[in-house]
Formats: sequence, structure tokens, C-alpha cells
Amino acid sequence: MQIQTSKETELVDITEKVMEQIKVKDVKEGFCIVFSKHTTTGIIINENEPRLKEDILNMLDKIVPDEKGYLHDDIDSNAHSHLRSILLGSSIVVPIENGSLLLGTWQSIFLVELDGPRSRTVNVSIIGQNQNCREV
Ligand code: ZN
Repeated sequence: MQIQTSKETELVDITEKVMEQIKVKDVKEGFCIVFSKHTTTGIIINENEPRLKEDILNMLDKIVPDEKGYLHDDIDSNAHSHLRSILLGSSIVVPIENGSLLLGTWQSIFLVELDGPRSRTVNVSIIGQNQNCREV
């Protein structure tokens, strides 16, 4: 999936896009792996609430502040983005049940942009079976 981000840092809810992939593959039971192919993004599961999204970005800013004399900044000035990405991780796994993501009521899947805006590639791998129990 290609996702165009619009800010330097932001949380982009990709739950619906991931769900579309499961529908296309017609998988009823299995696992869905969402993986970002970048070193300055994160993939997380959390609540899609505007103030919380801001809290998450503020937390990252506090834990890994910008311009702290990181060595990588000599190359392209985004060491803080890489370090924040490490804290979040670049993939998640969600079970699939009855053709749907087994997410809790308040859980959404986010691509976290940490060095945008950019075009990002997120890979969705689906392992499972369709209704006829064929491997897909
Ligand atoms: Zn870099």
C-alpha cells in the first residue's frame, strides 16, 4: 500500500486500508502482518482519539528530542526520526477471525510518520485460509 503523509510527524489511521486487503484476499481465519519498509516510520496499534494522537507525538518528542548532537545528523539531520522509529517498531501482527481484523473496540492500526511528509510503502502480508479452507 502507498500512503502519502502530509506532515513532518503524524499518526495515519490505516485500519480501513488493511481491512480492504483482507476482503480482497477473502481470508476468513489467519494472521495479518503490517510492515513498514522505512527507517523513519512506526507501525502501532492504539486509539484514534485526536488528543491522544498528539500526546503520543509529544511523548516521542520528550523521549527523543530533536537536535541533540546525534552523530547521524551529520549525514541527513534526521537521527531523532530514526531513534523514534526504533521505539515504535516497524511491524504488527493482528489475528483475523470471521474475515475481520480481531481488533478491540478502541484499537486502530496507525502508520506513524516521523520524518515527513513523504510517500510511504506499507506491506500487508496475510497468512490464512478462506471459507473453503484453501491455503492462500
Ligand atoms: Zn537518516
